Amino acid sequence: MSQLPVNSQTLPLIGMSREQLAFALEDFGLVASGNSESRLEQLWHWLYFRGAPSIDQMAGISPDFRSQLSQHFDVNLPSLVEEQVSEDGTRKWLLRFGSEETDSVEVETVFIPENDRGTLCVSSQVGCSLTCTFCHTGTQKMVRNLTVGEIVGQIIFAKSRLGDFENLATGKTGLAETLDHRAVTNIVMMGMGEPLFNFENVKQALLIAMDDAGLCFSRRRVTLSTSGVVPKIYRTGEEIRCSLAISLHATRDELRDVLVPINRKYPLAELLEACREYPQLSNSRRIVFEYVMLKGVNDTLIDAAELAGLLQGIPSKVNLIPFNKWPGSEYECSDWSSIESFARYLKDHGVTAPIRMPRGRDILAACGQLKSESQRVILKS
Ligand code: SAH
Ligand code: SF4
Repeated sequence: MSQLPVNSQTLPLIGMSREQLAFALEDFGLVASGNSESRLEQLWHWLYFRGAPSIDQMAGISPDFRSQLSQHFDVNLPSLVEEQVSEDGTRKWLLRFGSEETDSVEVETVFIPENDRGTLCVSSQVGCSLTCTFCHTGTQKMVRNLTVGEIVGQIIFAKSRLGDFENLATGKTGLAETLDHRAVTNIVMMGMGEPLFNFENVKQALLIAMDDAGLCFSRRRVTLSTSGVVPKIYRTGEEIRCSLAISLHATRDELRDVLVPINRKYPLAELLEACREYPQLSNSRRIVFEYVMLKGVNDTLIDAAELAGLLQGIPSKVNLIPFNKWPGSEYECSDWSSIESFARYLKDHGVTAPIRMPRGRDILAACGQLKSESQRVILKS
């Protein structure tokens, strides 16, 4: 079990797949061999549908079995280090995983409420190994991949904090009396890190998030954003089948090589080919291309024309993101008039291209502004 923290006596439940959980229940002798199914469903329900923060609070499971479970497992949710609430209602949480003695790391998770949805922006790594020149996260050295439990833990934490799970003590519900009233309706893997460099863990975490008997997010409401790790885009389409977003930001290799350096390995033609082949694309299931507006860099109408040309034949939508400045960055955000002309050009040429209004700028929660203080610890043997 790769998730077992060093020195820990218990296995963290959050993040285990059904198969891993069944295996562990049998291995610890808590159920007879081949008989794990009903216990497994029960546990899954309390973990992911009811959001029980501890084994003790799994009221539907007998006290006897709970005490047996506690000898081998714990739920293992992150602890809240800091909560910031923006004037626009966006919330940014700094969460800590692990303990001081083990490999403790801090990550940022952001919740963005809108009229018709609530989007949770989830991190996949601490720091990022890539160095996109306009991105604040890219200035934080890569510390490590998050485990499955740490990725799913961000979702459970957010849902608990926002009252999406039934209040276990009173039996009352928070914001979430029915599924339609959930605070968190959408998940985007757009926090810290490059999710496709942590493919196996992100895959298992998203499959848990989309599991019908638990968190129950539909494929359409789960979006993975990548800077363009082409081979893993094919695997995402086959094995996760969630919605896809591509951080495009430039229409020529020469410029993209600078802005998004992974382009040197996987140039635009290969990236767009992988997008073209992404399964089940249609007008109602489109790839989102993110395009950050950088003054004097990528914001002319020639860029807009090239962009419209590149996306021809791919069911797509472009999100125009005004550049969010961070301390020390060299770039400036394009003028508002350039952003509007760019958007209008795309619209006139048949490309849906909303301007994404920045959220949570005052608390550095906007796109590309996330960064934690965690650093890589070199453990001496
Ligand atoms: N690593 C993945 C997931 C992070 S998503 C990826 O790059 O796709 C974060 C999104 O915000 C990406 O589209 C990224 O390019 C964009 N972004 C990064 N820095 C930004 C900034 N300063 N202003 C606006 N958008 C930014
Ligand atoms: Fe990493 Fe994405 Fe930021 Fe690039 S934009 S440095 S891939 S988080």
